[in-house]
Amino acid sequence: MSSASASVIRLHNISKHYGGEVQAVNKLSLDVPRGTLLALLGPSGCGKSTTLRLIAGLETPDSGDIWLDERHVTGRGVQVPPEARRVGMVFQDYALFPHLTIADNIAFPLNHLPATQRRQRVAAMLELVGLQGRERRYPHELSGGQQQRVALARALAADPAVVLLDEPFSNLDAALRRQTREEVRAILKTAGTTTVFVTHDQEEALSIADLVAVMAGGYLLQVGLPRKVYLEPASLEVATFVGEANIIPGEAHGDTVTCTLGTCRCCVRCVGQCRYWYAMRRFSLRPTRRAAPVSSGSRSTERISRPACAMMMVPVCKRVRCRCSCSHPATGCG
Ligand code: ADP
Repeated sequence: MSSASASVIRLHNISKHYGGEVQAVNKLSLDVPRGTLLALLGPSGCGKSTTLRLIAGLETPDSGDIWLDERHVTGRGVQVPPEARRVGMVFQDYALFPHLTIADNIAFPLNHLPATQRRQRVAAMLELVGLQGRERRYPHELSGGQQQRVALARALAADPAVVLLDEPFSNLDAALRRQTREEVRAILKTAGTTTVFVTHDQEEALSIADLVAVMAGGYLLQVGLPRKVYLEPASLEVATFVGEANIIPGEAHGDTVTCTLGTCRCCVRCVGQCRYWYAMRRFSLRPTRRAAPVSSGSRSTERISRPACAMMMVPVCKRVRCRCSCSHPATGCG
């Protein structure tokens, strides 16, 4: 297969199982454009870390191909070792050397460079991650967020083609996590690196990633802009995992759908009667003056009566995405 893609990371039909039973990754194909920060998002055990390790060359797939910066690094008869892939990795626990100073930690992958160049590169990395003046300290003398930045500086020091981060913020408390992830995004953007980070935290993925790839059960379910994945989930599984969703079953009739809230316009057209579900975001049921009274029930139920809800849904239709869960051949749904 040609590698004529502009993607820096390219996975084609990658599968990996463990011990004959566990199918960790299933026919996964993924393209990560240059300079993109992609979040690999999914519940625990869905195959995220395995995918990351396959990209790094720490695991060998059963089948499939991987290209890094247009170089075929994994495939039939090809398995370039991790150290020859130009991959920088940041592990969950940062994996800093406790007996080395911050400067020596960052300089670790630069042993092939002359001393002067090595010092210059370390200084540039310290500046990039905002830790100038702390180069003589040891890891235990830094906060969790600072250690995280040292790990990132070390990963970036050797000018990698890609950077991979495995649950990079999970060791930090909530407040520090929010601040650190913004800092990490800024550093990666300044460095212009192509990055994949693994997370099970939807908020984290949606807030800092350029692209979100949602995985479940070893399968890649959807890849897209955070906003798109959130507002237009491709399947019920994505809708329920990425953020909170109100799932409402209904019956489709062409471009309208009848559900418990009334009859609403539909985002996709479906011929014939199909089963629909709505993944509703940023949607509130507010009464309108034009609400038609319901024949029975109290005043409060009247205020969120079915006709009122239906009226409110029409103007916000662009935000209320519906997906057909049938497999009707005329629509390509399903
Ligand atoms: P995630 O990162 O999404 O939590 P992993 O990629 O770590 O998921 O694991 C995917 C599946 O593969 C899980 O069922 C896990 O138990 C299994 N697995 C991962 N690594 C190994 C291994 N070295 N040996 C056996 N099973 C493994």
